[in-house]
Amino acid sequence: MGFKKISIDNYIELHLKNNPTENKADLERRLLSALKDYKNRVKCSCGNDIWVIGSASVGNSCFTCITGESSPTDDYEIEDAIKKRENRKGQRHIDDINPNEIHGLFDDDGYEINIDLIKKPSLCLTCLHNDDPNEELLCNLNRFDQQSEQEFNCFAYKKIDF
Ligand SMILES: [Zn+2]
Repeated sequence: MGFKKISIDNYIELHLKNNPTENKADLERRLLSALKDYKNRVKCSCGNDIWVIGSASVGNSCFTCITGESSPTDDYEIEDAIKKRENRKGQRHIDDINPNEIHGLFDDDGYEINIDLIKKPSLCLTCLHNDDPNEELLCNLNRFDQQSEQEFNCFAYKKIDF
């Protein structure tokens, strides 16, 4: 079970259809504010991630604390808040790690990047830098940054002479 993804715009449209008296600008402002809090890792008083859509009406709380149900079934959540949650499973945040143990890569939000899960683009297989331990960190950062892109670009690419 999980949330159904919805964009902010689509959710606002849906919500206004069901609640015609709601003020659109006000709803949007509350949703954006809850989403911002979610991204800033504001938590429910019980420690869970906040449910952005519910929090926009009743204040920052998680799904369970708002609805009393253990998990969502046909409930919506703003897509930006879901994506992050799925990708973050088991990932450690830099604030939660003993400073003496911090090494490796972290993304822009401060979450640890699991290098083993970064896909290697086929371009890398014909590159001189492939499997070069000195280049590995830069290669992985570059791959990570472009994970969601259709095409992989690399300025450090050097073709192997076969
Ligand atoms: Zn809670």
